[in-house]
Order: sequence, then C-alpha cells, then structure tokens
Amino acid sequence: MEDTIFSKIIRREIPAEIIYEDDDVLAFLDISPNNPGHTLVIPKDLSTNIFDISQDSWRKVMDVVRMLAPKVREGAGADAINIQMNNGEIAGQLVYHTHVHIIPRIKGDGFKHWAGTPYAQGEMRAVADAIRATL
Ligand code: AMP
Repeated sequence: MEDTIFSKIIRREIPAEIIYEDDDVLAFLDISPNNPGHTLVIPKDLSTNIFDISQDSWRKVMDVVRMLAPKVREGAGADAINIQMNNGEIAGQLVYHTHVHIIPRIKGDGFKHWAGTPYAQGEMRAVADAIRATL
C-alpha cells in the first residue's frame, strides 16, 4: 500500500502535535478537531483500516487508545470521550492509514447520536443469521 500523510508524520517530514509515541504506535492531535484535544492513534506499520490490520498491530493501537482516553479527557478538560473509527470511503475514511479517533466531548457541544431505524418484522434475525454465517 502507498504511504499517506500519516507516514510523513511518523517520519517527521511534516509537523504534528505528537502526544505519545512508542516503538509501534503514534498519537497526535487531529488538525481539524471536533473538540480541542481530538487525538488520532495510529500504528507505525502500514495498514489501511480494520479490514487489513494485523491482530498484533490492532492490539497495540487499542492498548494505547485505552491508556490515552482518560488522559485526553483530563488534559482537554472534557466530560466524556467518543472512540471512533472510519473504515472505508462510505464510512467517511479520508486517510487510508489505520487510525482511531479519541474525541473529547463537552456537555452541550451539540453532537448527536446517529439516528436509528427499527428493523422490519423478521429482519433482525435474518441479518444476525447472515453475519453468524460468516463466522
Ligand atoms: P478519517 O475521516 O477517519 O479518515 O479522518 C482523517 C482525519 O485526519 C481527519 O479528522 C483530519 O482532520 C485528520 N488529518 C488529516 N491530515 C492531518 C494532519 N496533517 N495532521 C493531523 N490530522 C490530520
């Protein structure tokens, strides 16, 4: 796969506000935050998203997400945190280097839950069966 702008951040070819780094993972502030402190956590090895990241790399990323979430909440003075990940174009992925968003939430910030739509009669079971059949 091709390098993205995040590889340039890993290599320090472009600037970023890096808040955490270890041998395998980097975390830095999103340049266009939902709220101040919005952080991206990325693996240093190349993968596109949840569909091709190795289990080892994913675990390392998520360990850092878990470690950083309360730190971001505290440091950003937030009330709560959303953990978000966009996987694929239709899901809103813009940068094709695996990344997990840690998004500080402030009371009254106005972000809303996605609208839900109830299943039609029998649809829920059918969808569950279809997913179970892939396992
Ligand atoms: P996604 O839609 O999940 O692919 O999100 C990509 C995120 O990367 C967006 O929230 C962008 O604001 C962020 N982003 C893009 N370029 C940079 C950059 N150079 N430094 C920090 N964040 C960036």
